[in-house]
Amino acid sequence: MKVYAIDRDTLALLLEMGKSSWPNEYMVLLGAEDGVINMVYPIAGSGGGSDASYIMMDMVPLGMSFVGTAHSHPNGVVRPSDTDYSTFAEMGQVHIIVGSPFDEYSWRAFRRDGHPVKLEIVSDE
Ligand SMILES: [Zn+2]
Repeated sequence: MKVYAIDRDTLALLLEMGKSSWPNEYMVLLGAEDGVINMVYPIAGSGGGSDASYIMMDMVPLGMSFVGTAHSHPNGVVRPSDTDYSTFAEMGQVHIIVGSPFDEYSWRAFRRDGHPVKLEIVSDE
């Protein structure tokens, strides 16, 4: 399954989580149906300080399928850090970074090799 879009409400949730976690980062796993990201999986024990997020892979339920990750950059720089590149390579096909001020323009998606990828925003109706 190739991911090509994100559900509008899911994106709004990711941005909102960036706001509520600020000034710390958050990180979650993303699930998708029919190529559209529409699920957010907070993983117990995962979290981050102000400049590094991580997922506790031991806490990911066996058999859970996910397509990638989302995390926040409280400093508003919406591009992958060196740590992010290695996380991206290990964790699925699409990775979203949301940055302060967490509005509709302050997010981007990346492929696992770190190249930006454009995601459509779709409404679930
Ligand atoms: Zn990052």
